[in-house]
Amino acid sequence: MKRYLLFDLDRTLWDFDGNAERTYRSMFAEFGLQKLCGVGFEAFHERYRVINDALWEAYRNGTLSKDLLALRRFSLTLEAFGCNADTKAIVSLSQKMSDYYVLEGTRQTGLMPGARELLDWLDVRRDRYCLAVITNGFSEAQLPKMKSSDIDRYFDYFFLSEDLGYMKPDRRFFDVALAQMKAPSEQSLVIGDDYKVDIVGAMAAGIPQVYYNKGSRPLPDGSCKPDYEIGNLLELKDILQKMEKSSSFRPDACS
Ligand SMILES: [Mg+2]
Repeated sequence: MKRYLLFDLDRTLWDFDGNAERTYRSMFAEFGLQKLCGVGFEAFHERYRVINDALWEAYRNGTLSKDLLALRRFSLTLEAFGCNADTKAIVSLSQKMSDYYVLEGTRQTGLMPGARELLDWLDVRRDRYCLAVITNGFSEAQLPKMKSSDIDRYFDYFFLSEDLGYMKPDRRFFDVALAQMKAPSEQSLVIGDDYKVDIVGAMAAGIPQVYYNKGSRPLPDGSCKPDYEIGNLLELKDILQKMEKSSSFRPDACS
């Protein structure tokens, strides 16, 4: 019986924060942002993160287009340090930064701790496990960065929200993914680091979940406990071995 493992990509397998920070540092130097903004990298980066998170939320909610997200995250950060976001020069600079970010960012190869070991372990068990990536990230970035970090070869399916027409946590994202793989929900497992996006979405679709909670963050108030919670990716091996003889990934099926 085949099992279906649906992995989120950013911050679950691909070290999004480490890779992004390296990219922003080189961008900061490349575009002379210290002089333009009058602050050091840390202050610039901190402000960028807040703005980027808010814009991503708007993008997920459908109130902001992808193109505007890609541009405004830089122009609004520049504005926060005294530039006028609507001038031609700042719009043009923001576009160049956005292009640079996609190009340089996708060349980064850092993975989350244990990711390679886990994927190698699963790779020799391909007769038992079918692997998929489930991601809301931009398609022009997600596939190149999987190739750069040499993890694309482990996966049988790539589900990108832009292709599916739905974004996690919309349950239709998960419904379409399972339907395409012909995967029964109880033999599938969603593994992700974002409670509100990966875990809530999988719960809505009735798929067992593994919450990769690396920093042991408390769950949001009033939320349901995920089926499994791990602080290290390699703990997933224990869960899979334990469930090997069970007909389902649902925890109550294991006894
Ligand atoms: Mg993630």
